Amino acid sequence: MARIDRDKLKLQLTQEQQLFVQNHPKSRAAFEKAKSSIFDGVPMPWMTEWPYPFPIFVREAAGSRIKDIDGREYIDFCLGDTGAMTGHSPKASIDTLIAQARKGLTSMCPTEDAAWVGEELARRFGLPFWQLAMTATDANRFCIRLARHITGRKKILVYNYCYHGTVDEAMVVLDRGIPVPRKGSIGPPVNPAETTKVIEFNDPEALEAALAPGDVACVLAEPAMTNIGIIHPDPGYHQILREMTRRTGTLLILDETHTISAGPGGYTRRHQLEPDILTIGKPIAAGFPAAAYGFSHEVADQVRACVGRKKSSASDETGIGGTLSGNAMAMALIKATLQHVLNAAAYAYTIPLAKRFNQGVQDVIDAWNLPWIVTRLGCRTEYWFCEKPVRSGSEALAAVDDELDHYMHLGTANRSILMTPFHNMALISPETTAADVDTHTRVFGELVAAVITAEG
Ligand code: PMP
Repeated sequence: MARIDRDKLKLQLTQEQQLFVQNHPKSRAAFEKAKSSIFDGVPMPWMTEWPYPFPIFVREAAGSRIKDIDGREYIDFCLGDTGAMTGHSPKASIDTLIAQARKGLTSMCPTEDAAWVGEELARRFGLPFWQLAMTATDANRFCIRLARHITGRKKILVYNYCYHGTVDEAMVVLDRGIPVPRKGSIGPPVNPAETTKVIEFNDPEALEAALAPGDVACVLAEPAMTNIGIIHPDPGYHQILREMTRRTGTLLILDETHTISAGPGGYTRRHQLEPDILTIGKPIAAGFPAAAYGFSHEVADQVRACVGRKKSSASDETGIGGTLSGNAMAMALIKATLQHVLNAAAYAYTIPLAKRFNQGVQDVIDAWNLPWIVTRLGCRTEYWFCEKPVRSGSEALAAVDDELDHYMHLGTANRSILMTPFHNMALISPETTAADVDTHTRVFGELVAAVITAEG
């Protein structure tokens, strides 16, 4: 059995940081320049959350590759944290983008692509009716609103350390049994205990206790957690979840934004789940902003009964949607992407490649007899520096080894590999090759070898 030598790790980490700084003078300068007008030097706060001394500024991306402004090229396993799970700028989507750009971007009127998109989403996910949004965050917000409207209940239920976008009600964690705003969340509107119940994933007793009072409008859940690392549901957990939500009149919203890695119909179709509502965003238009949500006949009837078909000439009063949602460009791109890029053939290619990725990592773990594991959700893979799979958000958080994660992210970036900045997660796109995967295996092996001590 080998173990991490923490002194070696500290030394290596410092060296990797120095190497990163040496290798990226232009990114560093771009970051400094941007700071004078862009708050903190990046257009979005999380762009500084990469575990590097400063962000890598990108010149261009294509397929499985990103090139930075220092002229360095990376095999991209982050893929825009799923936004570019299709590979960057896939040809079919970009051809459509160019063609549609000449035909108008947005008009406030539907295009004929709507019916194709609705039918395809219904076929994939098994829910009959669909609506569009710009982002998965928005789709989740609108669905929570629908659920509250239908049930007349105020609260929602989420899992500890979930992430469903910047949805106020879901930016919540458990602190000694009480829902509190997630650390670092800015300006929470109300005490989250008023809006949200939080339980651990894979805990049927907690679920029963939370739903029993009948005051929860909906459970908003990823079918397998992915945002505090991949956490699979225990066998039978989804049956319990569905039975309890039905029994208590609670709507079940499954967020497939990341679990679409499981297959063309996401985790839902792969495991024959029956949500009332399903949300999806990120890769469905190859990274162009677009999202969708689907719902059952029952939900559709209830929405109609509640909202009616009242037409007001004054303004839109539903509180759902945005002017740009469902725009002509987004619809055309969803159609092209689902038809030609994110289709069954793509998964038949990417999932075996993800297995190859995992096998490579497992071989390194086995060679050193390390107490680590590797896990997978379709074409999404991840390694953990802990002995056995975690079952909940708290267990996942406790298993995080910040120092080792940091080293792995820097070490891979210095060797031309981009991993997802959070955890050690990698996505495989239809453009990723076996050689890309094997490069990761080699680099992972080298990085591990540099920081361990073999024990007798
Ligand atoms: N749902 C899930 C499961 C997500 O992981 C994310 C983003 N990581 C979102 C929703 C929000 O997506 P967006 O930021 O594109 O709105």
